[in-house]
Amino acid sequence: MKHPQLTVRGVRARTVSVPMRRPLGTSATMMTAAPFLLVDLYTEEGITGRAHTFCYLDIAAPMMRRVLEAAGELIVGVPLDPERIRRVCQDHFALLGAHGVVAMVISALDVACWDALSRAAKLPLARYLGGATETVPSYNSNGLSLRRSDGDLGQITEEANELLEPGFNALKIRLGRENPREDLTAVRAVRSTIPSESLLMSDYNQALSVEEAIERGRGLEEEGLYWIEEPVAHDDFAGSSEVTQALGTPIQAGENFWGPNVLATAIAMTAMDYVMVDLMRIGGVSGWLRAAALADKARIPMSSHLYPEVSTHLLGVTPTAHWLEYVDWAEAFITAPILISHGNAKVPEGPGTGVFWDEDAVAHYATD
Ligand SMILES: [Mg+2]
Repeated sequence: MKHPQLTVRGVRARTVSVPMRRPLGTSATMMTAAPFLLVDLYTEEGITGRAHTFCYLDIAAPMMRRVLEAAGELIVGVPLDPERIRRVCQDHFALLGAHGVVAMVISALDVACWDALSRAAKLPLARYLGGATETVPSYNSNGLSLRRSDGDLGQITEEANELLEPGFNALKIRLGRENPREDLTAVRAVRSTIPSESLLMSDYNQALSVEEAIERGRGLEEEGLYWIEEPVAHDDFAGSSEVTQALGTPIQAGENFWGPNVLATAIAMTAMDYVMVDLMRIGGVSGWLRAAALADKARIPMSSHLYPEVSTHLLGVTPTAHWLEYVDWAEAFITAPILISHGNAKVPEGPGTGVFWDEDAVAHYATD
């Protein structure tokens, strides 16, 4: 691909922590605030590329900021080519290992590069990458958490209805309660309150052993779940494959796959029916495109994990595009939220990813 000629002038790293409108309780953790690292990639030509990456834990935000500052210093004066910038960073961090927070920072830089290039070309990222899709199907992934020891089913049904209100036809419920009967009761409560044509995804966040996953999955087989996500450890491909073979309900996995090579291994081991990649773990836009090609070759439907603002563009160029995961966390500091109607997210039409910071909000939520 021939890119517009840009040269990196510098990188600015900032961190914010924004309150979540609905605290996220999964089998793994409970979050009430979302820490983000913000990247501004400046060029000599005056174009700025932006990216935001979710830090998961407060303690990770300053670590990632420091890594980004170090990476930023390495690439001053370097022509803005995503592959070249990735190589410079990966070489620098090679002995430490370009994994974990380092990998996420390199991915964030990659996203900022593609944002700058498509802005320079005056095209939305999706079109810059050759896509013509205008909307992608999206489910509301906010809420339906494991935050109560569910005697409170009235509240879960009320929340399900609220989550459909912005124009969604699909939701995701978190599972993995101590007692499987409580999961079953919660699923039935939500399923019976939402319209029959609405879809209900589910997510165990790696809570189960293979044996438990098969037993619990069989107990949910008649409940019409659209998928069961990460029932077992994300790197237990053999175990996940066993669960996938045993259950009729499709198994979804992939948000914890670090790079396209991991996806290739998971595909080779038939570890899942559906895959969902995380923009920052899969390797930014560049990694996503490689993953999309692998999913296409294996004919596996591919969804996104977090980052709806950028993933909307990328699903627009994914041959086996499936579902956009919608979360509203970044809306606290981004000027133009993703628009949803009739169950679809609109691919933004402005240049680049369409992500601009609301500077007042960034100042308000700054944790620097
Ligand atoms: Mg998940």
